Amino acid sequence: MVFAGRPSRPASHLVLASGGRAPAYANSRAFSSSLPRNKERLVILGSGWGGYEVLRAIDKERWNVTMISPNNYFNFTPLLASCAVGTLEFRCATEPVRRYSPEVVAYQAWCDHIDFRQKRLQCMPATPPLSFETKSAPKADATTTQFPGTGTPFTLTYDKLVIAVGAYSQTFDVPGVKEHAHFLKDVKDARAIRTRILECFEQANQPTISDVERRKLLNFCIVGGGPTGVEFAAELHDLLHTEMERHYPGLTRFAKISMYDVAPQILGMFDESLVKYAEKTFKRDGISIFTSHHVERVEPGKLFVKEQGEVPFGLLVWSTGLAPNPLVQSASDVKKDLKTSSIITNDHLNVLKEDGTPYSDVWAIGDAAMIEDARLPATAQVANQKAKYLTKKLNRLVKDKDSPKPFEFHNQGSLAYIGNWKAIYDRSGTGNNVMNKETGRLAWLLWRSAYFTMTLSVRNKILVPTYWFLNWIFGRDLTRF
Ligand SMILES: Cc1cc2nc3c(=O)[nH]c(=O)nc-3n(C[C@H](O)[C@H](O)[C@H](O)COP(=O)(O)OP(=O)(O)OC[C@H]3O[C@@H](n4cnc5c(N)ncnc54)[C@H](O)[C@@H]3O)c2cc1C
Repeated sequence: MVFAGRPSRPASHLVLASGGRAPAYANSRAFSSSLPRNKERLVILGSGWGGYEVLRAIDKERWNVTMISPNNYFNFTPLLASCAVGTLEFRCATEPVRRYSPEVVAYQAWCDHIDFRQKRLQCMPATPPLSFETKSAPKADATTTQFPGTGTPFTLTYDKLVIAVGAYSQTFDVPGVKEHAHFLKDVKDARAIRTRILECFEQANQPTISDVERRKLLNFCIVGGGPTGVEFAAELHDLLHTEMERHYPGLTRFAKISMYDVAPQILGMFDESLVKYAEKTFKRDGISIFTSHHVERVEPGKLFVKEQGEVPFGLLVWSTGLAPNPLVQSASDVKKDLKTSSIITNDHLNVLKEDGTPYSDVWAIGDAAMIEDARLPATAQVANQKAKYLTKKLNRLVKDKDSPKPFEFHNQGSLAYIGNWKAIYDRSGTGNNVMNKETGRLAWLLWRSAYFTMTLSVRNKILVPTYWFLNWIFGRDLTRF
């Protein structure tokens, strides 16, 4: 059977059923998509900070663009902690991929295998199966909360490929984490966390519950003292000390926020003085920080800490860094970093083969990739700048113009919200001496304006400040459904 990417146009580009992964894909359906006016086919894998920026800015008149991503939206990750406690509504933190169709063909699917030699991609739908489809897909790793995808795999070809599949959450193989902890990588995670917080309070409010059980239910644990863990703790603190105090007056005295990290301090990438400021603020706000603590295993409702023994919790949020994406991990004939398994690129962002020579038509950006001998942080800032550089390059390439100079990262500093309308801002590594460290309310204003400015669509530029304002006036919404 032949599927046409754009059914209205005649199919002219047929790919035979894949033989790449014999057992799982032997019956994979042939796939075809028309190539209007012989435009080259650019396939983008992933709709995150890297992939979505390429999708947004690529010259769609000159490229035949296909987006493959298990999400049909882009996640504005810096706002997820706010969404997880109701400071913002979930749709403020997403942008739809479909905004660019029909100019762009998009499939909600996982890319499971890249054949660099044949320029083929094996993909698995990330949508629920139709009732007549009986085959089940390989299970996705539980560190992602995505629907694992079932149904009939398909194969696509590309002329140029952008790999922007990001990374997964790291668990360090601590037993029970995947099963009993929440991650915060996606808007679905934010929704699950918000539901669980409200559930804990409603459970603790039942007349049959003892105070000991209340204390257990309202112990909110966070493992990982990086910016994500810190910002979530800060947002949760704000929720507990505003709406929760007002609407569950007898309960907040049982509530506690505890943050664990194996490192001797939190926020490792920030300047020492800013870390001290954040730690002092957390201490004053009643957030307990347990550094140099080791979580050994997690069971339903309790974690086991080497230095403390059994710690009961109502909610556990796990944010201990990044693990390689399985697609990247399984990719062969590409050079990879020994420590992180990231794909290694040259400074023009071309993926390197195992022998170190570049693929001229494959690029990798974002958390899935690193430039040879130039380790940059795994941040939205880096992913976005690489995507902008690459789009410029592709838009020149399609007009047969010279490529721009090698990629250069311009560090704009780091920001973290620490609660109670305070933030920290660190630009000390940028070589700029003006306002290179800031704390408190001014840093908070910078934090909010930075994320407001980075918000992509006009719709979200209206929605985000509107929800900030509405929730400031009326309080966060505590309904659970
Ligand atoms: C809660 C949170 C807050 C953050 N805050 C900040 C911040 O304030 N500032 C900052 O600079 N950075 C921040 N980051 C880090 C930043 O979000 C990441 O560095 C950035 O998302 C990396 O972009 P990416 O495009 O590489 O990957 P992602 O944005 O993770 O996107 C990867 C995409 O690939 C898709 N995908 C995965 N597997 C496949 C596959 N097999 N086939 C096809 N598609 C696939 C995913 O569904 C997703 O759409 C934050 C991260 C989190 C989780």
